[in-house]
Amino acid sequence: MKIAIFGLGYVGSTAAGCIASQGHSVIGIDVAEAKVKALNEGRAPVHEPGLDALIARAHAQGRISAVTRLDDELDECDIAIVCVGTPSGVDGSHNMSYIAQATRSIARALSNDRAQARKRPLTLAYRSTMRPGSCENIIWPIIGQALGERAKEIVELVYNPEFLREASAIEDYFNPPKIVIGTLDGTPSARMAALNEGIEAPMFEVGLREAEITKFVDNSWHAVKVAFANEIGRVCQNLGISAKAVHEIFKSDTKLNISAYYTRPGGPFGGSCLPKDVRALQYIAADTGSATHLVDALIRSNEAHKHHQFLEATGGLEPGAKVLLVGLAFKLDTDDLRELLARQLYSPVPWVDTVRAMVERGVSMAIEFGPGKVLAGLGKRIDKAIETLPVYDQAGLNRALEATRNA
Ligand code: NAD
Repeated sequence: MKIAIFGLGYVGSTAAGCIASQGHSVIGIDVAEAKVKALNEGRAPVHEPGLDALIARAHAQGRISAVTRLDDELDECDIAIVCVGTPSGVDGSHNMSYIAQATRSIARALSNDRAQARKRPLTLAYRSTMRPGSCENIIWPIIGQALGERAKEIVELVYNPEFLREASAIEDYFNPPKIVIGTLDGTPSARMAALNEGIEAPMFEVGLREAEITKFVDNSWHAVKVAFANEIGRVCQNLGISAKAVHEIFKSDTKLNISAYYTRPGGPFGGSCLPKDVRALQYIAADTGSATHLVDALIRSNEAHKHHQFLEATGGLEPGAKVLLVGLAFKLDTDDLRELLARQLYSPVPWVDTVRAMVERGVSMAIEFGPGKVLAGLGKRIDKAIETLPVYDQAGLNRALEATRNA
């Protein structure tokens, strides 16, 4: 295939070298003359181990070149990949001006007669990291304005995030942790599949926004991991504990610690251990001057989630509305309601806070709580605001469900 690459920085020049090494023809486009000159002399425009050799070979074989200004280079291209920078703007959001500039130059180039006569659309894939919605709200309008009603016939818009790490970029390019291809309607892109042929990785074909948010999720998670590791390291250091030994124990647990466990968005955390022990670690950290800002934020984050779920559950409800809460414990298949009597600022049973907030809003609540032995006296065990609520066993639940349906 013939592939154009916009932006010859770390991402773009790695893609250029790797794609050319797979036998494709590559044309690079960058506004920086020095980078274009380097590529045209068979050198890597950035320092990246192994990249010089890949680019030198492709250059010697006549399969790689670059320009500073786009002319008719896109006419023969199957795919254009955009890897221009999205640095931080003054307010912290991404500066999208390079994306807009590159997109305008692509749209202009595709407005000519030859492009209009294309038999197959150009697959236009964005790899720069950018806010979800950018493809639909910034890029597609620029393309649409230039190409009019024929835009979808001329351009197949794709978002394809990049997961390489500098210094191991080539190895990462050919062995990515995953491949994510976002398209306007979430349907697979045959061209992107062809580009990734031979690369073994889990493949996700999704909508543009799911693909766009992937890097934000990944990079923030990596930042959370580093910050958490360092906070625990500080606490250990201040307590005279070997952080290295603690890390060995921590990472050996691939069942609950280094795993997909506890990563699915859902209910807030609760139960008799997590809130209690997080609070206690906060205390230890403060007591030892460890300044654990991330750990300190956990309980507040959990409270924010309870509030979010409360708003979700009660949105549009009139005072006096009837709500049936199915399940009261912090997760399925447990009857553990310990600490209910401890009138703490925050309840360890997440739903109790939700119920309390609903009752205070005048919502009429009923609660189903499965295991019979806990049913007795449950009303008295929960704090005053909700102690008068009806509590059902399975038979009662069925009746209540029926009544709620008929209400
Ligand atoms: P970079 O700054 O190294 O390279 C960007 C290049 O784009 C520069 O060479 C610049 O001259 C060029 N450019 C700017 N405007 C242009 C235009 N209108 N036309 C053509 N070229 C233009 O950036 P990078 O590190 O390669 O990152 C690129 C994008 O990929 C960013 O959004 C970044 O967040 C994302 N990303 C980076 C990495 C990484 O490890 N560097 C990994 C994954 C994703």
